[in-house]
Amino acid sequence: MSYSTIKQYLTNHADSIQKEATRQHKKNLKEKNLRVEFFVKYQKHHIQTIEEIAKYLNEKHLTKGVAFFTSYGEKLGKESVQDGLTIEEVIDGTIYLKQAIWQKLKQAGLLEDISLEDFYTTSQIIGTYIDTLASKIAFTFHKQRQRIESNLNFLADASKILSSSLDYQTTLNTIANLAVPEIADWCTVDLLDTKGDLHHVAVAHKDPKRIAWARELQKKQRINHDATSGVPNVLRTGESELYPHITDDMLVTIAKNHEELKLLRSIGFTSVMIVPLVSKKKPIGAITFVNAETKRNYNQADLRMAEELATRASVAIENAQLYKGSQDAITVRDEFISVASHELKTPVTSVKMFTQVLKKHSQQIGDKKAVSHLTKMDKQLNKLTELIYDLLNVSKIQAGKMEFENKMFDFDKTIQEVIVVLQQTTEKHMLIIEGETGAKVYGDAERIGQVVNNLVSNAIKYSPKAENVIIKLSKNKKNVQVDVQDFGIGMAKEHFKKIFERFYRVYDSNDKTFPGLGIGLYISGEIIKRHCGKLWVKSTPGKGSTFSFSIPIDCRQTT
Ligand code: ADP
Repeated sequence: MSYSTIKQYLTNHADSIQKEATRQHKKNLKEKNLRVEFFVKYQKHHIQTIEEIAKYLNEKHLTKGVAFFTSYGEKLGKESVQDGLTIEEVIDGTIYLKQAIWQKLKQAGLLEDISLEDFYTTSQIIGTYIDTLASKIAFTFHKQRQRIESNLNFLADASKILSSSLDYQTTLNTIANLAVPEIADWCTVDLLDTKGDLHHVAVAHKDPKRIAWARELQKKQRINHDATSGVPNVLRTGESELYPHITDDMLVTIAKNHEELKLLRSIGFTSVMIVPLVSKKKPIGAITFVNAETKRNYNQADLRMAEELATRASVAIENAQLYKGSQDAITVRDEFISVASHELKTPVTSVKMFTQVLKKHSQQIGDKKAVSHLTKMDKQLNKLTELIYDLLNVSKIQAGKMEFENKMFDFDKTIQEVIVVLQQTTEKHMLIIEGETGAKVYGDAERIGQVVNNLVSNAIKYSPKAENVIIKLSKNKKNVQVDVQDFGIGMAKEHFKKIFERFYRVYDSNDKTFPGLGIGLYISGEIIKRHCGKLWVKSTPGKGSTFSFSIPIDCRQTT
């Protein structure tokens, strides 16, 4: 009996041994747990394992055999993770294989007249190979799982960051920094500008000196837009690139000159992946992940993670661009309002002045018709002035320049004066004041009057069929409160907060029933805020609304 007989037997019967191992495995797993789709593939692996055992079944070949099973174990580990097998499925496979080998050797009578020494050596060698294989599979499995976990964690963290900010340049920088050192030794983000020029918006490495060095380098390097690989290629094709193993030959091919080759070699690339950032179906940039000093290698699973990250980053960039576009439009609108209201103020004031002069003159000469027309004209000019004043206020609030002239004032009297003036503008409604505060309040009387004017004017405007508007005054220890109640159209709850926003109207601007700009409540809200108070509404559609504000008697004591 010698090694060569066992060797020969294993080589010739690899398939039947494998079948015996599978039979035992199936029996133990109760059939249903074995994944049929991978049968043939893993059967082939088992056959190869037996053949390789036979090949190295000699003490002299032990080192070579162990080396083979180490790398074979790594390969099997990676494949089985990708195939989604469990660690038990794979490791059990090797245990049943070992059992089947011994069972078959026994059945074939090969163990009968073997010397104890030979038996011991054979058993040692087969045991070592199978154990090496099993432990390497388990180790790789563990490593791969760790990697998937860290990829998933990275993706989750990155997604949170991406959705938390609209400043995408800073966000991309944060993401590049998050990638290092977790999943890359280097991470760079490049973006195309509107002119099609490429900009490095982020570079990350754990050593700040290396970042400074890379930035210098990027400044010096000219981008070859026609390159058939790398960022320019990814931008042109919109396809990712994965280089699991960077070889020196590859560096030689990429380098434009000796200098550059030296540089590339000094970085010590081991693996690279580049994924495109896409907006409106067009590549707008790329994220590059580089492994160097840690000597890691990217695989397909890493690439899928990187692509997923790029998709999420692309959405964030798109959102940020849309947001910026809308902010720019708002700025243009605000500037227009500010300029237009300033420009309108002077001519309207002078037209108003001339109207009054003309009216006086017409009264003096007894031209009644002219007086009546000029009175109407004056009323319309008042409306126009109020509108311009409101628009100016909006601009001032936006610029943080709304002025207040604060002093102690008679709260009730200020409100009564506003109501008296407003009563003259409506024939249909009775404006009823209920209660009193008797308070002297610290603040800007004119601005508080402006708020009451706005709330009561709205109450009149939005209750065309009602007859009364009630203005209730009340006071507690620290605050005075005004409730303006109407019996008009009311509004649904969903609008309660929004109506205090700039330009928000329950009815859209095409609806001519209730004309307006949607800025009165916004200004009122700001005035009340500046008096340390609050403004709110309670309303029922079809029944009416009550707008209330409450301000401290002396705001200085609350701040
Ligand atoms: P405007 O009245 O010029 O549209 P406001 O800022 O004063 O602007 O009001 C914002 C919106 O709130 C109005 O368009 C209207 O839809 C709603 N609103 C305000 N006051 C009332 C009210 N008393 N009853 C019903 N809706 C109101």
